[in-house]
Amino acid sequence: MSDIDVKYAQLGGAGGFLGAATTGENVAPDGIGHYRHYQNGSIYWSPSTGAHESHGAIRALWAAKGWERSFLGYPMTDETGTPDGVGRYNHFQGGSIYWTPSTGAHEVHGAIRGLWAAKGWERSFLGYPLTDESTTPDGVGRYNHFQGGSIYWTPSTGAHEVHGAIRYLWSTLGWERSFLGYPLTDETTTPDGVGRYNHFQNASIYWTPSTGAHEVHGAIRALWASMGWERSFLGYPTSNELSTEDGTGRYSEFQHGSIYWSPATGALACRETVRLHIKCLTAPTRFSINTMISNMRLTYATAQIGVKYVSFENLNLPDLNDLDVGACTMGSTTAEQNQLYGNRNGVAANDVVVYMVRSTVPPYNGCAAYPSGRPSAAVVAGASAWTMAHEVGHVLGLPHVNDSNRLMTGGGTDNITNPPPDIIGSEAATMLASPFTN
Ligand SMILES: [Zn+2]
Repeated sequence: MSDIDVKYAQLGGAGGFLGAATTGENVAPDGIGHYRHYQNGSIYWSPSTGAHESHGAIRALWAAKGWERSFLGYPMTDETGTPDGVGRYNHFQGGSIYWTPSTGAHEVHGAIRGLWAAKGWERSFLGYPLTDESTTPDGVGRYNHFQGGSIYWTPSTGAHEVHGAIRYLWSTLGWERSFLGYPLTDETTTPDGVGRYNHFQNASIYWTPSTGAHEVHGAIRALWASMGWERSFLGYPTSNELSTEDGTGRYSEFQHGSIYWSPATGALACRETVRLHIKCLTAPTRFSINTMISNMRLTYATAQIGVKYVSFENLNLPDLNDLDVGACTMGSTTAEQNQLYGNRNGVAANDVVVYMVRSTVPPYNGCAAYPSGRPSAAVVAGASAWTMAHEVGHVLGLPHVNDSNRLMTGGGTDNITNPPPDIIGSEAATMLASPFTN
């Protein structure tokens, strides 16, 4: 009896699940082994692997790949039930095929199979494969999707798993074809034990239960890393990297601050935040609200202050559109200012509201006098690109200076000589100490 005949007899012969032979014992096309087909399966033998049966969906996939001449080679096991009792598998010389009723049969091999095995096969969070190993759309890498995640491999990055909310964010950004590239790590617990992350070729995604998953990349990521990642005062990211309103800068928000970047300034860490609301009676005519807010971000970042643009609202208040600001002195407001600044509409107590009006009476670019408990400023339609940052600077406690290089120049922000204008250290300290930065 051949080894194939012995295996067939062990499996019950013609009365077993294989049924009657449909071929004789033949030399396999690769010239190395032997095989025999039966009504419901096959037995393959080679000198190094011995004789093993394959049948059903697993055999069909193996056949589709090219039998023993495929990368899978000869079976090293009979079809076997998995330890969890749900699935079935054959190991082959060059990989494994796993099958369950819900997932069908899929092959896993090479470094991806090695990582899956190291995680605990189907009993790991990954579960069973949902795909064969496949080439990525960019042609560089390989992947298997699993029930509970994915494993991606490239020659330069090796095999790493991605799962859960981090995998979901990566997928929404475009997988490996996004700016993130391929994973460089498995999902890993952060040193503080709170969060999880994957590093990618060009970015990282960090997740915590309270913040969700957000990507950090480029110069912002480099600064955050240099500060100590999530153990820095910034904590975890609470946003992806965002563009400033005018597209000239970038920023990421964190639990306890933000990082701003622009070509002019590089990356700057902001330890406090102004929460800004815009309420618009008349839209500006010279510089857009987006330009004004973006310029505020640019100058304030040099004082370690970020800007959170929380809300926008149009107000139809024609009687207040040419706003009587009187002498516009801090601590002294007119009836019209009191009336206008009463329209906070749910804005939090320490949030700053900028009201965009047609003009002030007498005519200024803006006025930052506000009634107690309603931190506000008015900015007129013809204001300069720096008026909003300047007026909110007053709200945060800054007085005028006699220096047209500085944001708080008393000579008119249209006359600023070196944009972006400076905020000096003592001014930054005042702003950071304001109740309206937090
Ligand atoms: Zn001023």
